[in-house]
Amino acid sequence: MEISRPIKNFITLFSKIPGIGPRQATRIVFWLLHQPKDIQTEFSKTIENATTKIKLCADCFFPFEPKNNESLCEICRNQQREHSIICVVEKETDLLSIEKTNKYKGVYHILGGLMSEIDEKKKQELNIKPLLLRIKKSFQEKKPIKEIILALSPTSEGNLTTYYLEKAIKNLGLNIKITKLGRGLPHGGEVEFADSETLINALEGRK
Ligand SMILES: [Zn+2]
Repeated sequence: MEISRPIKNFITLFSKIPGIGPRQATRIVFWLLHQPKDIQTEFSKTIENATTKIKLCADCFFPFEPKNNESLCEICRNQQREHSIICVVEKETDLLSIEKTNKYKGVYHILGGLMSEIDEKKKQELNIKPLLLRIKKSFQEKKPIKEIILALSPTSEGNLTTYYLEKAIKNLGLNIKITKLGRGLPHGGEVEFADSETLINALEGRK
């Protein structure tokens, strides 16, 4: 018995989602086919809306829904936030975990991944250049960034990226403090899964 082409396509596509393998994708597609028409439509609409109505913030790359065609997300537009401190994170979910602590008042920069020792190309896909430009621009506009917190997970890829970024930022030759998360995060642990207390300790103990 052959699985029909549209179902196969669904499985291939959904298997690309982090954490979802072909087995789960297969279960999802058959589950979806058993749902009433309106639920099925809601699924396709929700996916479409999430990708068409959302824009990436021009400064930090956090996805947001522009209300009046603005280019910055809510955090970057918030004047109560400390715009001279940038916390560099791997991905959106890390930002959300840090936001949940309610302790961090600076702004962010989402890299969109980590560097890899085996895949040199990955570096080009990360938002590293925009970060360096953002730092330079802040000095040109006389609103200099004072501190960059490299809040990447203490995994081998995270450490590699931290090392590279630290060098790249220092090479700008600007008066800028570079800090890293302090103790607390277990070695190999990920920022996304750390509880609030651990994250608060790691942020407050940054050096
Ligand atoms: Zn932003």
